[in-house]
Amino acid sequence: MMKEISVKTSSRVELIDITHLVEKVVLESKIKSGLCIIYVPHTTAAVTINENADPSVRRDIIAKLNKVIPFDDNYAHLEGNAAAHIKASIIGPSETILVNGGSLVLGTWQGIYFCEFDGPRNRKVMIKIIEG
Ligand code: ZN
Repeated sequence: MMKEISVKTSSRVELIDITHLVEKVVLESKIKSGLCIIYVPHTTAAVTINENADPSVRRDIIAKLNKVIPFDDNYAHLEGNAAAHIKASIIGPSETILVNGGSLVLGTWQGIYFCEFDGPRNRKVMIKIIEG
């Protein structure tokens, strides 16, 4: 079972909570036990799991990434978005989450974040649920 969801981003760098969208796909699949793979088919975006309670965590992640990987740094890539490519590779294009009892196995404070590094854009996220 595979589903594509759309994410519209509104900033150059942004973390968007997509937990509810992924949970909906799991629910629709009617699969009670297995694995949920979340895959971002882009070179300047990523997905991560982190705290969903205090929004300052998201702000800190973005601020630190922007500091460590500045937008301009004499990069060779002429498109002007080298920083976005580097951030996307560091965070990574996928996450795998256990499915149990028909829902995602996430800790109390965990949320799934789509990471935009070269927005604003219309993005896709692929979700595959494997029963087992
Ligand atoms: Zn590029």
